[in-house]
Amino acid sequence: MDACRLASPIVPTVDFGTKGVQHGFLRLPYSGDDSAWGSVMIPISVIANGRGPTALLTGGNHGDEYEGPVALFDLARSLAADAVRGRVIIVPAMNYPAFRAGTRTSPIDKGNLNRTFPGRPDGTITEKIADYFTRHLLPLADVVLDFHSGGRTLEFLPYAAAHELPDKEQERRCFAAVAAFGAPYSMRMREIDAIGMYDTAAEVMGKVFVTTELAGGGTARAVTVAIARRGARNLLQHAGILDGQPETGPTLWLDMPSSECFGFAEDDGLVEPRKDLGDQVRKGEVLACIHPTGRTGTAPAEHRAALDGVLAARHFPGLVKVGDCLAVVATVEESTTRA
Ligand code: CA
Repeated sequence: MDACRLASPIVPTVDFGTKGVQHGFLRLPYSGDDSAWGSVMIPISVIANGRGPTALLTGGNHGDEYEGPVALFDLARSLAADAVRGRVIIVPAMNYPAFRAGTRTSPIDKGNLNRTFPGRPDGTITEKIADYFTRHLLPLADVVLDFHSGGRTLEFLPYAAAHELPDKEQERRCFAAVAAFGAPYSMRMREIDAIGMYDTAAEVMGKVFVTTELAGGGTARAVTVAIARRGARNLLQHAGILDGQPETGPTLWLDMPSSECFGFAEDDGLVEPRKDLGDQVRKGEVLACIHPTGRTGTAPAEHRAALDGVLAARHFPGLVKVGDCLAVVATVEESTTRA
């Protein structure tokens, strides 16, 4: 049978059509050694009141990225139904097994949720989660915000982002939502490989989709949590779901105009950063050196910028291996106040 015709095995304990505040679960049956008839219980909140748009807010798509879960567990706890016009659906930790393990991918099936879309109802645990979002949650949403950070192996400048899209009106609405989010940096983001991403699944459905990268290193910071918390509320205000105007400060608009933005390590070794996040860089400048670790007396390999811009992301751990993304250079747009 065609997989897309099968029912999802996930059962929500919340009713998406009911007004008020509901805290419940997406219950995903998982028969394992520790529980024959067990379930993965993915926390979800639905806050609904009256007519209006639906926002779908998610974190923990990768399990080792923390600003989204911190901001969204907090928002779910604090958002009152009478403050809302429309509906807010909050899933603070989409790939819940990965989130509980503190890892990017699921400990059950090694699934990287953000490379698994549209998913399958008859697939792995991670594929089943993706399928539920594709067929049941995304269709409910007008506005979609998916929080990311760098996880254990990357660190980013704190930015909200959208992608170039074939539908220019949809693209305009996505970037207006990025501006409303109000992060210190706003990115026109390019992906290394967009196939299988939640972003792509939402965008092909015509949704207003905003993502973020907010620092990383497998932890959260006070400053980045504050950006996440304010950004979520700003976006709900921008959508007309919450009263009030978004509180936004200055933002620096960045672009990733080509795949030359991404620099990959061609050596194993010990990383010596020569530039820090936010530093201006010139094409040909050394961003980092990779020192061989096997013996003394060997020269380091130099990793150079392929274009002018700012250092927007970097490999986080002190050791690097061949093929790791070592540095991302983004170009600075003329205007810092694009509306
Ligand atoms: Ca991520």
